Amino acid sequence: ELPQIKGDIQFENVVFEYEKNRPALKGINLQVEAGQSIALVGHTGSGKSTIINLLSRFYDITDGRITIDGYDIRDVTVQSLRSQIGIVLQDTFIFSGTIRDNIRFGRLDATDEEIEAVAKAVHAHDFIIHLPNGYDTEVEERGNALSMGQRQLLSFARALLADPRILILDEATASIDTETELKIQEALQVLLKGRTSFIVAHRLSTIRNANRIVVLDHGEIKEEGNHEQL
Ligand code: ATP
Ligand code: MG
Repeated sequence: ELPQIKGDIQFENVVFEYEKNRPALKGINLQVEAGQSIALVGHTGSGKSTIINLLSRFYDITDGRITIDGYDIRDVTVQSLRSQIGIVLQDTFIFSGTIRDNIRFGRLDATDEEIEAVAKAVHAHDFIIHLPNGYDTEVEERGNALSMGQRQLLSFARALLADPRILILDEATASIDTETELKIQEALQVLLKGRTSFIVAHRLSTIRNANRIVVLDHGEIKEEGNHEQL
């Protein structure tokens, strides 16, 4: 069992091969202090998704070590590890049920007040109350009536409610109108506050707001720094 963590993360000489002798990561060293947000950038195939896959142990590393608060993630149960990591993927997962159920996912004990509070915090409340049945509006698996931006805000509300110490975000690439974009940026600041986060970042505004930017190239860290430095 991984105890309640602060969220310090360390990658020590992490090597990973999906296929033998074809390393997707070639010795990654990265030290992240609790509360920091890291933007991962780099060309397609450079290893961004691989880094976040390894952190939540969708794969086990080939060589090296990943620790969280000093615990080797191979020494704790996958369940206790994932219970402290929130994951927001590009293709936001919406299931058929009400908006309320979709936010409550993973925190079934949450009250209606808590659900509204997180929805307000990420600017989702406004669009929700304008839906035919507000929080009780039924949505379909593919999120039919919801725009990309709205789905993103819903997934932020869900993640905020779950309140994990570590957040992984694979930012959507879809173009979004300026107003929604602004809401998403503000919501993201709320969501990231006080958590350690890894963001596969596509938007310049997100990159700018990260504490640190890590540029990957062919499975290696090519550059590292903040927005002013790079
Ligand atoms: P993108 O910007 O396209 O999402 P990425 O930076 O996330 O790219 P990764 O998905 O981490 O890149 O891929 C790193 C390398 O590992 C690439 O060479 C890719 O082809 C390879 N790879 C990724 N997933 C697999 C897999 N499931 N099986 C085999 N090779 C894989
Ligand atoms: Mg990827």
